[in-house]
Amino acid sequence: MELRKIKGLGEKNEQLLNSLNINSIEDLLEYYPYRYIEYKINDINDVQEGQNIIVIGKIDSMPLVRRFKARLNSLNFRLYTSGKIVNTIIYNRAFMQRNLTPGKEVTVIGKYDQKKNTIVASNILLSPIKEGTIESKYHLTSGITNKQITKYIDEALNMNISVEDYVPSKYNEQYEFLAKNEAINNIHKPLDIKSLKQAKLKLIYEELFKFMFKINYLKYVNTRENIKDAKKVDIVDLQNFLGSLPFELTADQQKAVENIHKDLTSTNRMNRLLCGDVGSGKTIVGVIAMYESFLAGYQSALMAPTEILATQHFKNIKNLLTNTGVKVALLLGSTKKKEKEEIYEKLENGEIDLLIGTHAIISDKVKFKNLGLVITDEQHRFGVNQRNSLRNKGNLPDILYMSATPIPRTYALTIYGDMDISLIKTKPAGRKEIKTIIKSDNDIKDILYMMLEEIKNGHQVYAVTPLIEEDEETETNVMTVTNLKEKLESAFNHKIEVGLLHGKLDKEEKEKVMEDFKEGKIKVLVSTTVIEVGVDVKNATMMVIFNAERFGLATLHQLRGRIGRNSLDSTCVLVGPKTDNARLKVLEESNDGFYITEKDFEMRREGDLFGTKQSGDMSFKIADIQRDFKILMRVKADSEEFFEENIQNGFKNDEIYYKIIDEIKSLD
Ligand code: ADP
Ligand code: MG
Repeated sequence: MELRKIKGLGEKNEQLLNSLNINSIEDLLEYYPYRYIEYKINDINDVQEGQNIIVIGKIDSMPLVRRFKARLNSLNFRLYTSGKIVNTIIYNRAFMQRNLTPGKEVTVIGKYDQKKNTIVASNILLSPIKEGTIESKYHLTSGITNKQITKYIDEALNMNISVEDYVPSKYNEQYEFLAKNEAINNIHKPLDIKSLKQAKLKLIYEELFKFMFKINYLKYVNTRENIKDAKKVDIVDLQNFLGSLPFELTADQQKAVENIHKDLTSTNRMNRLLCGDVGSGKTIVGVIAMYESFLAGYQSALMAPTEILATQHFKNIKNLLTNTGVKVALLLGSTKKKEKEEIYEKLENGEIDLLIGTHAIISDKVKFKNLGLVITDEQHRFGVNQRNSLRNKGNLPDILYMSATPIPRTYALTIYGDMDISLIKTKPAGRKEIKTIIKSDNDIKDILYMMLEEIKNGHQVYAVTPLIEEDEETETNVMTVTNLKEKLESAFNHKIEVGLLHGKLDKEEKEKVMEDFKEGKIKVLVSTTVIEVGVDVKNATMMVIFNAERFGLATLHQLRGRIGRNSLDSTCVLVGPKTDNARLKVLEESNDGFYITEKDFEMRREGDLFGTKQSGDMSFKIADIQRDFKILMRVKADSEEFFEENIQNGFKNDEIYYKIIDEIKSLD
């Protein structure tokens, strides 16, 4: 149902909601809070110095306003709470004076200074809140507040729209799950922790069920439609090529090459995931596969998630394939029309053997003469729905996915259950380890000094922070990108060029910034995690990650993989509130992605109900495959059972399951 059906929702806010990917009332109802604040009320007689507190009390004096400068004022009053009179002060809220009449009962949120018997308040609510009240917090975009989103969601909930429940009734009964409507209601407006937990459980199970249903479906079609022509590869030619490479393959690379060779030369279509840490050398394995495809007389396509990466691949791969006779072309959205048409023509008549580009290269417009192999790089950037989009191109080409998420085996077998897997666990020898150190927010001077040293030595620096937008009052201790850029610029006296990169810039802006950074015009690149994807700027030797405690270890590890790209020493600085963070210490200890994700997995606490949802590689709305591992395993078993029981009877004509299948098919 259209968003505009919601009372009071106008065009401007509709657009803002659209920018959050909310395009209908149903989307809005599934726009779940990313965290909750539970209000616990304190007794002023037993709070610690400097502790954040919430107290309820009566105003015991006429509030007084003092004005200091044009922009600074304070409001003071006495508060009677738990049998005690305390002074209360709040800054820049002079406007509240008329609402704070003596005798009124209010909620005061702030810090208590025992010596001065004063609460320095950060907020005052004009009524007493109930112990255990839970407030929902939503991800925002500038121009829309948490209050507004909450209001729209309230309206939407009141409309009693029926939402589809994808969980088969068998499992709803078995686990005594809440009904979907009730779960949606509770996830937005939890009355207590118990009902919140129940709602979460249901919605996580459902989301994972939908996901695993897709995996089951993909596996099913993969095994049914997988007979192709075996590729005939001349072994001597292949050996010669392997011998001409500038380095020797590692044992894991060799193993992967063997697996792929078997797939290519068999009559079963390849559907393989090549999984290896950043820098483990996946590209060369892909190149060998493409060369084999060439030897067998087929064309290949290599897709990268961004134009920057595609261009990078084009340059490297052209180099590796000189003197082989393989004709390589690069096709980007920005390629000139005339050149594009030339490429289309050459693809159709077979004059191009290998096409590199973004996802657009497998669109219907691009016709291959004889496509035999499709490789997607950084597959973890694409969702499961896209996995199917390669299936129907050409004469059933072999498919290889490359992903830099080093995940434990049990996971891989689940979320990539529709594919065969090759792992590259070891890195090529002689790599310089990235030195990682943990610093506290208080060490900012040291950190700035280190950055400056690095720049003086002619190198460049990444500065990463999690947030793009300011998220209302509760998040003031987290720096936004813009914030960080300004701070760095002024710390460096505006003498050092600082660039800004985040996901909300448009494509051209992003590419311009990356180009300037590559060329060394920008010395410090302030960024969110958008730089995570295989960007390669060899001269960048330092990365400072602010609010590092908020990222998952896998994300941090991927991020720091952007540095240490040549023989220079590289340093990664993780900045957080405390230096004795056990999770971050794992990164200090190790550079092994598999070890790190395994540790991350172990250390993620169960039932981390109020934690920020980490952005993993699969963008789930509420589930987190790491945190919800046990549920995932249960869903895996249930969904397999359900799929097997019902695939023959066509899911009893229940259209809901065809809807899920359509989500995958719509991208064909
Ligand atoms: P990723 O797995 O992150 O895609 P790349 O394929 O980009 O890694 O490889 C990283 C670097 O390691 C490249 O510069 C590549 O040439 C180099 N490399 C790959 N394999 C080997 C090897 N066996 N020995 C030495 N260097 C290698
Ligand atoms: Mg790569």
